[in-house]
Amino acid sequence: MYDVVIIGGGPAGMSCGLYAGRAGMKTMIVEKMFSGGQMSTTNEVENYPGVENVISGAELAYKFENQARKFGVEFLNADVTGVQLEGAVKKIVTSQETLETKTVVFAMGTVARKLGLEDEARLTGKGVSYCATCDGAFFRGKDVAVIGGGDTALEDAIFLSRFCSKVYLVHRRNEFRGAKVLQDQVLQTENIEICYQMVAEKILGENRVEGVVLRQAENMAQRQLTVQGIFVAVGSDPSSQLVQEVLELSKGGYILTDDTMQTSIPGVYAAGDIREKQLRQIITAASDGAIAGFNAALYATKFVPFG
Ligand code: NAP
Repeated sequence: MYDVVIIGGGPAGMSCGLYAGRAGMKTMIVEKMFSGGQMSTTNEVENYPGVENVISGAELAYKFENQARKFGVEFLNADVTGVQLEGAVKKIVTSQETLETKTVVFAMGTVARKLGLEDEARLTGKGVSYCATCDGAFFRGKDVAVIGGGDTALEDAIFLSRFCSKVYLVHRRNEFRGAKVLQDQVLQTENIEICYQMVAEKILGENRVEGVVLRQAENMAQRQLTVQGIFVAVGSDPSSQLVQEVLELSKGGYILTDDTMQTSIPGVYAAGDIREKQLRQIITAASDGAIAGFNAALYATKFVPFG
């Protein structure tokens, strides 16, 4: 039996693993894709303390994983299909095996939100993308649009401007939500054109994206952009479907925890972007993970079978 099973291998999950592993706990991280989660798709990380020179998210994820492994943390590449959280021994059903554990930490993060347009699903992978870092290179020398006004949209626009001919940054309001330092960079980049107060209304193209129709919120004026790529960066939703019937969630579907990261069930914790909180950054995910790992270890140490 495991002391701590962590679901999700992003910065929250891996920091949690580091703290639990270092506390001598038998610890497993279950991740369905690759270590790092959303962090791995970040082109440049420059706001993680101690990382003085810009580092890629994938490189930082690699360091997180190696550090956790150093303290004996095991990794399982599998999809979690069910959980049984009541009682002293908790069960995690995965596509590979069923794990028994004294404590569970949910750290599955969030998934990219869709625009909800008619041809969006059909043209996903054919010009519509939710990850500029992953897919940007396919659009070298092409014109693209980024939709959104948060940190992700601003970072995506800056990243794409380095090798795309032109980047339209489409935002539904006339001021950005993203960090000032990114806004300044966007404004200083010649091949980024900002389309303020515009929403994407229709994606054009039969077999591949050929353009996007925008609508101005205020006067309903239309504008058509000829672009080969559309990068959607309109936020994300918590990946909490697995626990929506068993844990207390916020209205937005984020897991509610106390200061120790414990959820509504004793011995069950949540950490990182999946948790209801104000600031979702790598550093706050890592912080949540450390607190969850520390408290899960405390709980597991006091474990009473059948208690
Ligand atoms: P976000 O902060 O929620 O921003 C989403 C953006 O999309 C907002 O500007 C929003 O407009 C717009 N939007 C939402 N729904 C829309 C729709 N249907 N049509 C058009 N626009 C829509 O999401 P995010 O940028 O992915 O960031 C998520 C979290 O990760 C944030 O906490 C962010 O700080 C963090 N993050 C940090 C970094 C970094 O520190 N380097 C990098 C990436 C992400 P409104 O502004 O009008 O609501």
